[in-house]
Amino acid sequence: MFEGLSERLSGVFDRLTRQGALSEADVATALREVRVALLEADVSLPVARDFIAKVQEKATGQAVTKSVTPGQQVVKIVNDELTAMLAGDDAEAGRLRVDSPPAPILMVGLQGSGKTTTTAKIAKRLTEREGKRVLMASLDVNRPAAMEQLGILGMRTGVDVLPIVKGQDPIAIARRAKQQATMGGYDVYLLDTAGRLHIDQELMAQVESVRDVAKPHETLLVVDGLTGQDAVNVATEFDGRIGVTGVVLTRMDGDGRGGAALSMRAVTGKPIKFVATGEKLDALEEFHPARIAGRILGMGDVVSLVEKAQETIEAEQAERMMKRFQKGRFDMNDLAAQLQQMQKMGGMQGVMGMLPGMGKLSKQMEEANFDDKVIRRQVALIQSMTKKERANPALLQASRKKRIAAGAGLEVPELNRLLKMHRQMADMMKKMGKMGKKGMLRGGLS
Ligand code: GDP
Ligand code: MG
Repeated sequence: MFEGLSERLSGVFDRLTRQGALSEADVATALREVRVALLEADVSLPVARDFIAKVQEKATGQAVTKSVTPGQQVVKIVNDELTAMLAGDDAEAGRLRVDSPPAPILMVGLQGSGKTTTTAKIAKRLTEREGKRVLMASLDVNRPAAMEQLGILGMRTGVDVLPIVKGQDPIAIARRAKQQATMGGYDVYLLDTAGRLHIDQELMAQVESVRDVAKPHETLLVVDGLTGQDAVNVATEFDGRIGVTGVVLTRMDGDGRGGAALSMRAVTGKPIKFVATGEKLDALEEFHPARIAGRILGMGDVVSLVEKAQETIEAEQAERMMKRFQKGRFDMNDLAAQLQQMQKMGGMQGVMGMLPGMGKLSKQMEEANFDDKVIRRQVALIQSMTKKERANPALLQASRKKRIAAGAGLEVPELNRLLKMHRQMADMMKKMGKMGKKGMLRGGLS
């Protein structure tokens, strides 16, 4: 249905010759196509415009990597930027604040957006994956069938549902749910509210008073991912009036391109917590920014294109770094770069593994439980050194060590371990530099 972005771009870039850096004109040409792709994916115009401006600035003047075309490189920059923008603080994805029981979660959104279904899906997930005791309550007094619908979903998921009491208003039901959740020892209770077809002040006022009674730990806005630009207005209204802590995008199993996700993220700044991909009760996924980015850009070939560009760019960076090592230079900045690279490549097997002679060291590190968290701490330590210290860590006196460790929120022994590792690696680099200039490094990288 949609033309892939890479097809468009390859046409554009066939005409361009390879230059040293991406010129403003190259980038502008490519970004015109990207803009069309964004708008086709239903990203709202102002958001698309801002995004393009940001990428234009970032991409112009960037060195063109040897083995990718300028078009591929622009796509990679676009893809990375899109992913970063969608991710925001990615610690929020798929996570709900449900630590102090009974934690209320308020579900809000337009009618038909998938609130009731999503309520049951989240309840099921919290029960099955996190072992929480969950209670669901329907506050939808507008449609008689709505309460029964939740009751049925409760039976299908095995999650408890607050019994229906005829004639109660939503506020009374919210109070009863809270009471029941407290007395019954529940960890979480979900309040499924009524929706209207459009934003409606009366309904908003009702949801607002429910919020004041329930004091929700999470207020999740459920939005139909197919609604595109409209989703932004809905999100802005609900957030302004009720205060939203996260978004669930539904119907992402459909043909929609997910532009709503980007627009909502950009406009409200609220994290997208989950993506719903079907009517079945386990069709709820954590939000994966890279996946949605691919979808917005036209998917398929773009992803492999980006991967290829990524690999090439990383190989070139590694090569540049090796040249420094051969000259006997390996300071803390290099170590930080290596560490970050490792983090990206998922651990030691990455960069070090590619270099002959590094096997033993890499094993040692693996044994020392060299995981993501450790790497992040080490990078923090390096970052709290001064420029001079990074260039020459031998300068570090005990008092500075204490400061640096404290600056990173860590202890001196951890800094000492880092310094020792740096010395070992620097030695190794020096030896390798002396041993063979060309052959072995090239062999290791290609
Ligand atoms: P509510 O009015 O906001 O409570 O919406 P409902 O939960 O009742 O959902 C409305 C319809 O959308 C139902 O038929 C659901 O089965 C369907 N639905 C909900 N979420 C999804 C989804 O992620 N994908 C698809 N394809 N259908 C969904
Ligand atoms: Mg409903």
